[in-house]
Amino acid sequence: MTTPINDLIARLTDKKTWKQYPLKRRFVSKLKINSTNSCWEWLGSRLQRGYGRIGLNGKMITAHRASWLIYRGEIPRGKFVCHKCDNPPCVNPDHLFITTHKENMMDMVSKQRWSKKPKTAKQIESARKLMMKLSQSQRGKKKAWSKLNKFQVLKIRASNEVQKKIAQRYGVAQTLISQIKSGKIWKEI
Ligand SMILES: [Zn+2]
Repeated sequence: MTTPINDLIARLTDKKTWKQYPLKRRFVSKLKINSTNSCWEWLGSRLQRGYGRIGLNGKMITAHRASWLIYRGEIPRGKFVCHKCDNPPCVNPDHLFITTHKENMMDMVSKQRWSKKPKTAKQIESARKLMMKLSQSQRGKKKAWSKLNKFQVLKIRASNEVQKKIAQRYGVAQTLISQIKSGKIWKEI
């Protein structure tokens, strides 16, 4: 005998039995698919910024994180689940991506460059491209830094040579030498 769908939904939304149902079943009973933008709108309780929330093992987690857990799997420690569609209540796994906090912040910054949130696919795509560019330049910086060790940094600081020459000797950009000398980077040395 199969349970009629309405009974199932009623049971799923009944607070007394709510926790006994697996996450996925509770999750799917709380969303509505928006046919215009294919966002899955969260109908359950929401946080102030519009993100949905759902209970898991006695804790509340955001609904889009739950979506990732259900459809994509584990979220590595320290990683964040973010929206490509910029719609906080959306829980469509295809509209989500996983990132580190740093990239997440850069994503937010790049999105703020538009006075309005990027709505068209083209705008979202350029926001993503910008984010990639930003994260690549961050990585580039890190790489340049790692070319030098503590001892070399001290030597650079003490040197009276022109910056261009020092840069050539170490095979790094002159701006890096200038940043080292002014104490902008490697403050701790
Ligand atoms: Zn969406």
